[in-house]
Amino acid sequence: MHLHVISPAQNAPSEADRPVLRLVDTAACAGTSPELWAGPIDGETLMDWRARTATATTICASCPIRTRCLATELARPVDQQHGVRGGMTAAARRRLVRLGTAVRGGWVA
Ligand code: SF4
Repeated sequence: MHLHVISPAQNAPSEADRPVLRLVDTAACAGTSPELWAGPIDGETLMDWRARTATATTICASCPIRTRCLATELARPVDQQHGVRGGMTAAARRRLVRLGTAVRGGWVA
């Protein structure tokens, strides 16, 4: 049985899909495949996406610049959150970005 991820998918991952801080020498994702860091890929099953995400978050767990990476990514708007960054999925980061916007806007006490 194939379950497909229900979210915007892309055709082929590229260098642009990789984390912003990948160029820092000590980044654990330096030199890894762009595919690991992309959002859902066209035709990818839910199980494949989960496996890819688990691999990426495992790499992030050993990254010495994880906190800096996450802070950098959380400074980006919701619509620019894709793939795993700083050990978090795009969905988890979108929730944090929205919460930060709500707090700054005074919508959350
Ligand atoms: S935390 Fe993850 S995404 Fe960020 S630089 Fe490190 S390995 Fe790359």
